[in-house]
Amino acid sequence: MDLGLSGKVAVITGGSVGIGLAVAEGLAQEGVKVALCGRDGARAEREATRIAAAHGVEALGFGADVSRADDVTRFAEAVLARFGGADILINNAGTGSEETIMEADDAKWQYYLDLHLMAAVRLSRALVPSMRSRGGGVVLNNGSICATQPLGYEPIYNVSKAALTMFSKCLANELIGDNIRVNTVNPGLIQTPDWEKTAKLLTEGKDVSWQDYLANIAKTNAPIGRFGTPEELAHFFVFMCSEKASYCVGSSYYVDGGWLNVVN
Ligand code: NDP
Repeated sequence: MDLGLSGKVAVITGGSVGIGLAVAEGLAQEGVKVALCGRDGARAEREATRIAAAHGVEALGFGADVSRADDVTRFAEAVLARFGGADILINNAGTGSEETIMEADDAKWQYYLDLHLMAAVRLSRALVPSMRSRGGGVVLNNGSICATQPLGYEPIYNVSKAALTMFSKCLANELIGDNIRVNTVNPGLIQTPDWEKTAKLLTEGKDVSWQDYLANIAKTNAPIGRFGTPEELAHFFVFMCSEKASYCVGSSYYVDGGWLNVVN
């Protein structure tokens, strides 16, 4: 199936590992030029170089902490200088948290709101004008099942992802007249290197292997009984970026192996 994406430009925050990298790779396979960022600029550059060689597309790797407004500006300026604009924006950079509401200070709340919400606000503001002048575009926000089904140990993560979802809905209403489709994807358990690292740490010196530890989390939570792979999730992102998803506007789509416990 030709998705009609060849030659487009996609900007992916947190595109240097895990889900963002799989999405970048999936888009590059379709002939999309990609711009990736992460705080570790060397890793982002390495992955961009690898993707460019593997898929014969242009790729930019850039060091930026998207929780900082000035870094978002620098990244957006680099994208505009290199590619002249963007057709696709994937707001993906993010991470889990661990706290209680009673104990977390304002600085922690601010960091997660900057990372999960304001990065998406700021990058949209910076890149949507070029989508408008190119005749349309796609903004996809990587939320989480936790935006609607909270995990007890990470209230700040849950709240900041819920805020991202509402931002996404409002932006969708504002931009659909410009032929720019905005949606949120809410993943469940996706086995990224970060999950594997955590599982290894938590099982060090214990009777259970890290693989069994992860398998148990999946069996307890997701009806499908396993983690998804970044590639399985990336297929959905790539579809959502394409014209095949032309009637998908302002929604949240769960890719969670059945974990969401309500009909939505
Ligand atoms: P990883 O930790 O594997 O990758 C995170 C990516 O984001 C890296 O490229 C990292 O690069 C980048 N990043 C993190 N913080 C920043 C920052 N402040 N500025 C710029 N880049 C940053 O995470 P996942 O792939 O697992 O998660 C990606 C997204 O998917 C997140 O938003 C997460 O909340 C969401 N998600 C993940 C799920 C899962 O099970 N894995 C489930 C539901 C949602 P660097 O470290 O160099 O900054």
